[in-house]
Amino acid sequence: MSDPENEKSRKNSGLNFIESIIEEDLFNNKNQGRVHLRFPPEPNGYLHIGHAKSICLNFGLAKTYDGLCNLRFDDTNPEKEEVEYVDSIMEDISWLGFEWHDKPYYASDYFEQLYDWAVQLIKNGKAYVDEQAQEKISEQRGVPTRPGTESPFRNRPPEESLGLFARMRDGEFENGTMVLRAKVDMASPNMHMRDPIMYRILHQHHHRTADKWCIYPMYDWAHGQSDFIEGITHSVCTLEFELHRPLYDWFLDQLADERYRPQQIEFARLNLSYTVMSKRKLLELVREAYVNGWDDPRMPTISGLRRRGYTPLSIRNFADRIGVAKRNNVIDVGLLEFSVREHLNQIAPRVFAVLDPVKVIITNFPEGEVEQMELVNNPEDPDAGSRRVPFSREIYIERDDFMEDPPKKFFRMGPGREVRLKGAYIVKCEDFEKDENGRLTEIHCSYDPTSKSGGTGASRKVKGTLHWVSVQHAIDAEVRLYDRLFSDEDPNGHNDKDFKDFINPESLKTLTNCKLEPSLKSAVPEDKFQFQRLGYFCVDKDSTPTQLVINRTVPLRDPWAKKSKR
Ligand code: ATP
Ligand code: MG
Repeated sequence: MSDPENEKSRKNSGLNFIESIIEEDLFNNKNQGRVHLRFPPEPNGYLHIGHAKSICLNFGLAKTYDGLCNLRFDDTNPEKEEVEYVDSIMEDISWLGFEWHDKPYYASDYFEQLYDWAVQLIKNGKAYVDEQAQEKISEQRGVPTRPGTESPFRNRPPEESLGLFARMRDGEFENGTMVLRAKVDMASPNMHMRDPIMYRILHQHHHRTADKWCIYPMYDWAHGQSDFIEGITHSVCTLEFELHRPLYDWFLDQLADERYRPQQIEFARLNLSYTVMSKRKLLELVREAYVNGWDDPRMPTISGLRRRGYTPLSIRNFADRIGVAKRNNVIDVGLLEFSVREHLNQIAPRVFAVLDPVKVIITNFPEGEVEQMELVNNPEDPDAGSRRVPFSREIYIERDDFMEDPPKKFFRMGPGREVRLKGAYIVKCEDFEKDENGRLTEIHCSYDPTSKSGGTGASRKVKGTLHWVSVQHAIDAEVRLYDRLFSDEDPNGHNDKDFKDFINPESLKTLTNCKLEPSLKSAVPEDKFQFQRLGYFCVDKDSTPTQLVINRTVPLRDPWAKKSKR
């Protein structure tokens, strides 16, 4: 499922293309053999699974090559940035299992240095203040096939620009009245090189520098120089920055010598089917209440996946599995779900939960008697031990495990049929009752006392095995059945429609009358379980001491895989 080109290069050398670059640099003792990466989120939203790929890649490379990886907040756009996002980003990275070098860094810590370097560029005739309106500047940039038009301010004396730039900083001018531009090449076929803007005026409070600044550096100016300041050697980013690379290098040419130079390397961003990933769109879903916050279990955010029941390891395994590619592609979201299923299969204790209960009375089981059934916690994990589950005369089973008039192949409960209650006895349905609407209210069974699981009579075989919960011992719970948030494979891919038109109306179904075995009494948020025959589930943070709230992480098998095979 990963990129075939990438797969091929892996097979040839065992390395992905970024590892190959790093190994060659190490071989050549480039940058004195240092390997120093960074992860540079903009704190304008919560991190998503795409960021997780980038985190696993950058922090993972640092680990592989005994290097370092910085966390740097790219906080140059105060209009959209908030402390809440800064905090959530740090929490998510730690939860994924990575540690940043030293302390969190902030591009805003470099504002003074960036300003000084901008002054140096002006003095060297490499930057100028342009007093034209933004629209005029865009217009003059032109189109890639023809050279742009030079600004009338392009060749003004440096002293003039220096004076104006200082006054821009001092707050003398309104937003949008002037900008600082790099003097690169108005004829370059690469539009990013046509005298890009380095600074704009923005009278806006910043979450860290408060009101100290009213000019803010643009991404291209701030980013590469921040890499340079921090001693980054390999600046890994996504493919849309490929065309920015000449500018990244041009700025460094103005400041750096050949002894040390960060290198920008681009890889393909993660795209997932049935998922939107842009922070702008995720913010829209939150703001317009299509979901219940950034950590809604249907969101592709790291906090959403966490709340859904994903483990850090399952996400890291997913990132490994998809690899790094140089061409954009779309990964099947089923692969992400496979990764969590795979990990939970190893670690999640098996328990009984009945989501849509109907009562079964075992008429020949002594009233008031309780028998403790010994059940294995996890057949995949010999160390997980076993627990005792109480069995009594009245139990719950799933409503859809009974049929009044079942077809031959229905190996569950029906009049006159026998099934095994898992870990307990074989029971035979003798009778059932319905209410005036024809809805099943109660099933009457007899049990075979010689058929106890693990006992001497246990070798008797019946076709069906059901899960169950003892009525008097059951814990009540609300269970939230989550499904994919979008019902279309590519919700962004329809020009005539908004991505929100494809929200899956069945993405959340809440069941309020669920019955759990009593061992879940002490369960706390983020505890994970396999509800036998049903899927993987976890305890939600909305739980209270009197009411458990449970999220379904994934069903045992992928229901979407079946759909697409049909
Ligand atoms: P979005 O486009 O989703 O709004 P962004 O690129 O604006 O995200 P940043 O905070 O700038 O978000 O991203 C931080 C780092 O994460 C960058 O290095 C970026 O390249 C990387 N990143 C963002 N989205 C993805 C993705 N889908 N796959 C891989 N890496 C990503
Ligand atoms: Mg970005």
